[in-house]
Amino acid sequence: MIKVTNLSKKFGDLAVLKGIDFEVKQGEIVVIIGPSGTGKSTLLRCLNYLETPTTGIINIGPVKVDAANASSKSVTQLRQQSSFVFQNYALFANKTALENVAEGLITVWKEPKQQALATSKKILEQVGLGDKINHYPVQLSGGQQQRVGIARAMAAKGEVILFDEPTSALDPEWVDEVLAVMKQLAQGRQTMIVVTHEMQFAREIADKIIFMEQGHIVEQGSAEQMFTAPKSERTRAFLARAT
Ligand code: ADP
Ligand code: MG
Repeated sequence: MIKVTNLSKKFGDLAVLKGIDFEVKQGEIVVIIGPSGTGKSTLLRCLNYLETPTTGIINIGPVKVDAANASSKSVTQLRQQSSFVFQNYALFANKTALENVAEGLITVWKEPKQQALATSKKILEQVGLGDKINHYPVQLSGGQQQRVGIARAMAAKGEVILFDEPTSALDPEWVDEVLAVMKQLAQGRQTMIVVTHEMQFAREIADKIIFMEQGHIVEQGSAEQMFTAPKSERTRAFLARAT
């Protein structure tokens, strides 16, 4: 369902992604691991065209965009195929939890407001926040804010949800409730690409793990294979430090 071919990204002279190729099947949970500064966030951002790739073809669902000749129409369509969960939640401070989740349905998908709010309420119930729908972000804990962030991504109707270190800004006490919501999504076979340092979690939920270093994919394989029998010495060294 997702196919990325020869994706590269330069910031000025700095080559951050150097020819990335991978595929994700429908319902697959892919976890990306690797040292910081390696290009993991840039990769996710390129999938959504939050960053414009320097080269490469991104194919998500029915939409295919080649950086060599990307029209603004195809980029808009591509953006609708994925939704983002950010490290720092990125909620609207002046909107309630319910309004944050409904925003995309109203502005992007042009749903009638009452319908969008009803859908959003159901999704907030699914992430355990049915009693917090009228709270503003400042009235919510970090874990609750991130669950609103996930609910917003669930509402977006994209093919895939992209998670960029969704628990790394959280106080330790809130990490588990966010991981639990992600596990619930994974059990529902929501297609997900997750950048995380939570190795135990990665091992539990990933169908496939991609190890990235310095703008390259060094190795990819099943969680079992990567954790017990990595092919690359670099993967082995990283996992030895990280687990
Ligand atoms: P990771 O998420 O793996 O830690 P990033 O994708 O955030 O890595 O960053 C990879 C490299 O790209 C880093 O050297 C970072 O400084 C650089 N970088 C990221 N975003 C920008 C930007 N907007 N402008 C210039 N350099 C950037
Ligand atoms: Mg990052």
